[in-house]
Amino acid sequence: MSEDKRLAAIEAHQNNPFSIAQEQLREANKYLGLSDGALAVLMQPMREYHCSLPVRMDDGRVEVFPAFRVQYNDARGPTKGGIRFHPLETIDTIRALAAWMTWKTAVVDIPLGGGKGGIICNPKELSAGELERLSRQYVRYFGHILGAERDVPAPDVYTNPQIMAWMMDEFYWQRSYNQPGSFTGKPVEVGGSLGRGDATARGGIFCVREAMKKLGMKTGNSTYAVQGFGNAGQFAAILMKEILGEGNKLLAVSDSRGGVYNEKGLDVSALIAYKHETGSLSGFPGGEAITNEALLELPVDIIFPSAIENVITGDNAPRIQAKISCELANGPTTPEGDSILCERNVFVIPDFLANAGGVTVSYFEQVQNGDNYYWDIDLVHERLDKKMTRAFQSVYEAHEEHGVNMRIAAYIVAVRRVARAMELRGWV
Ligand code: GLU
Repeated sequence: MSEDKRLAAIEAHQNNPFSIAQEQLREANKYLGLSDGALAVLMQPMREYHCSLPVRMDDGRVEVFPAFRVQYNDARGPTKGGIRFHPLETIDTIRALAAWMTWKTAVVDIPLGGGKGGIICNPKELSAGELERLSRQYVRYFGHILGAERDVPAPDVYTNPQIMAWMMDEFYWQRSYNQPGSFTGKPVEVGGSLGRGDATARGGIFCVREAMKKLGMKTGNSTYAVQGFGNAGQFAAILMKEILGEGNKLLAVSDSRGGVYNEKGLDVSALIAYKHETGSLSGFPGGEAITNEALLELPVDIIFPSAIENVITGDNAPRIQAKISCELANGPTTPEGDSILCERNVFVIPDFLANAGGVTVSYFEQVQNGDNYYWDIDLVHERLDKKMTRAFQSVYEAHEEHGVNMRIAAYIVAVRRVARAMELRGWV
């Protein structure tokens, strides 16, 4: 895709995520009353790095890929956050996601800061060899600013445990010693944690369970729809039943190419097998076709926006009928969408709370790497549940105390912790 086309596509389809992140912080500050200095620090990333990565392609040409790493704030500990491989990546998206990582690690109260990275590329057009060389090149160029005590990447959009293994290995060749805690979301065979794979969705379902209790809803027989059928979406579909009961019915699911709907309920394992086989959901025999837009407006109890940014906006928020929106994606709701959902009493579990399970188990992975001693799966689940439940409770308390929606409440809890750390360190 040409640069012009890429930028036009971004303008046409996106509100600027970093402006949204800044606007949310300003809104939360009405209740926080930060000093001017503290607010100014938190409105911008502390550090950001831009590199151009030359990669030898299979046909012998050298192609150059723009790449970024943003270290938003490390007052509470080393920066932490994923690396995205995406053709429409922008530095502002990475800045927003790095800010949200800062609030995410703070809201679950793990001793880490927030960061994010990305490469502008289309991984679907790269061979396995090209993908490996690109991943290793990222570490050659950014290795000096990474490390377990500095900045720790993880998987994100279109990156996965194999990519983390290559990156961790490249870091090893640079330093000449193993530092397993330098990357998380690794395969279990090279220092990954059990339970990291489904951790994002699992954390979200723990939040849904707590929200249903607060709203007086029964957890065993609800209906739900999942937008986005990647890692988070697939596991959300499975775990709603596994954790909250088989009586919960998945009515619709979609991916970037469209979705399927069945009012009697869809067979989750058949869907996953079908997607695995065909690469998409279209043509799935157990239901009728539905668009991504229509899925969000279904009369279900819970929707899981688990795909991309800005899918719930001022336009469609008036038509959303769900009682709970559990945001497994980062930034799926625009501020305009948010205020409409709030007026209409849709209970939003905001992204950096709802999807914090991933980074929480990443933190567990680092702890296990540091001890060189590995936990069994029950311990991972138990500790994740405790962290998520506690985080949900503290956000819910702020929501009641200040009479604000759950997103602003999550900001109040998280930003207060980061600001306090900066104050104690003497930064502001
Ligand atoms: N990329 C995930 C997120 O947005 C996980 C980050 C991590 O594990 O460091 O939360």
